[in-house]
Amino acid sequence: MITLKTPREMEKMKVSGQIVAEILQILKEQIRPGITTSDLNQIAEAEAKKRRARAVFKNYPHPRGSRPFPGAICTSVNEEVVHGIPGKRILREGDIISIDFGVMVDGFAGDAAITVPVGKVEPEVEKLIRVTEEALLKGIEQAQVGNRLGQISNAIQTYVEAAGFSVVRDYVGHGIGRSMHEDPPIPNYGQALRGPTLQRGMTLAIEPMVNLGTYSVYTKGDEWTVVTRDGKHSAHFEHSVAISDQGPLILTLV
Ligand code: MG
Repeated sequence: MITLKTPREMEKMKVSGQIVAEILQILKEQIRPGITTSDLNQIAEAEAKKRRARAVFKNYPHPRGSRPFPGAICTSVNEEVVHGIPGKRILREGDIISIDFGVMVDGFAGDAAITVPVGKVEPEVEKLIRVTEEALLKGIEQAQVGNRLGQISNAIQTYVEAAGFSVVRDYVGHGIGRSMHEDPPIPNYGQALRGPTLQRGMTLAIEPMVNLGTYSVYTKGDEWTVVTRDGKHSAHFEHSVAISDQGPLILTLV
């Protein structure tokens, strides 16, 4: 069931979203060769605590009953697509890292992700990051009252494939609100004239995951980390967005 939010509820989601964006910005500024993914996780936890925000991914239940997610943030490096677990991994010059972060504040969730280069990266990888962020914005442009959900999905896929990359099929965006994951699922691929008609008050977490090579992915033995089947790089950007009569409102901005 898709829940519609009142203007007051949207304001609350803006507060949650802003906290997510602020903390992602702080993490981005810390990314450099030598820092570990666990260091980033500790910063995220401390910054969330300062803002009285609950980091929702911490102890998030595993969909198939395995151990809950241990980190406050997901840190996915290079060929890791999503749900990478923060730990001892040291970031090196030329790596890329995707950070996904979600909080709950005053009963409402915010969720966003960024991909950041560590120092200088290969031009092809730099392009992957740029195209993924641009694809997210192409999707957001379609988040208009009266459009079909498929227009978001189709805009993302069209943009990504025109640039020569592929869109992950197995993981999708989602509605967001009083819970982190609500209806509807939001694929980053598919036909435009599909899915529910978008209405004022819908709040959507749109999150393209884009691969340099094949879109095929699998989950590693830690039961969380999703990686590309061909070992090539993947990028991920996400914003939480509200649909209004004035057009799409990005909630996860500083
Ligand atoms: Mg999300």
